[in-house]
Amino acid sequence: MGSIAENLAAIQARIVSACTQAGRAPESVRLLAVSKTHGPEAVRAAADCGQLLFAENRVQEAAAKIPECPGALQWHLVGHLQSNKAALAARLFDWVHSVDSARLLETLDRHAAEAGRTLPVLLQVNVSGERSKSGLAPDAVPAVLRIADGLRNVEVRGLMTIPPLAEDPERSRPFFRQLREWRDEWAAGTGADLAELSMGMTHDLEVAIEEGATIVRVGTGIFGARIRAAAEAGEA
Ligand SMILES: *Cc1c(COP(=O)(O)O)cnc(C)c1O
Repeated sequence: MGSIAENLAAIQARIVSACTQAGRAPESVRLLAVSKTHGPEAVRAAADCGQLLFAENRVQEAAAKIPECPGALQWHLVGHLQSNKAALAARLFDWVHSVDSARLLETLDRHAAEAGRTLPVLLQVNVSGERSKSGLAPDAVPAVLRIADGLRNVEVRGLMTIPPLAEDPERSRPFFRQLREWRDEWAAGTGADLAELSMGMTHDLEVAIEEGATIVRVGTGIFGARIRAAAEAGEA
């Protein structure tokens, strides 16, 4: 792997080329740099290249890191969030991608209200049905969207998914496509504005863009191999 600057440029080039291939405007896809396990100096190196959006998967790690990073960055939580860390998460993060229950949504709404803000969130959907994955069961999503409609301090902006681990990026395609199709159906059925689709990581971002991703989450492709294997568990 090259330097963070070189890696970032290579990922941006992949995004532009995938957009061109798919007949989409490159500005329609935002790059989220997933800095989990990497320190503030790695974040700073990416920020120095103009990268503004960063993501973490653990609240505790983010709480230690964010104050050490440049101030103008936007932080997204992409890992599973436990209710007892929702208050801290509602203050630390600009977006939460991993809302996986109505209860968590309501808890975040309460904490965002206490913090005097409105928190944009995505509903994480367990498209594959893998028992090990967090995320809402697809048939639970419309009810959660109706509950969200009555909450003032969280705004559901779209959906997020993590497909089963597979080397071949084509294996991710059916899950990405399914999420987009459900999004269209749920948006039409509930009137919710679900413009954002957070899907695609280092190895399958092209496929995700072809299937409609508006946010891709890239870690190793920018920062290299993760420093601590423990952080892979994805527990916030
Ligand atoms: C770590 C992580 C990523 C980034 O994965 P890479 O394969 O390193 O690009 C994306 N999304 C989530 C939810 C993650 O936890």
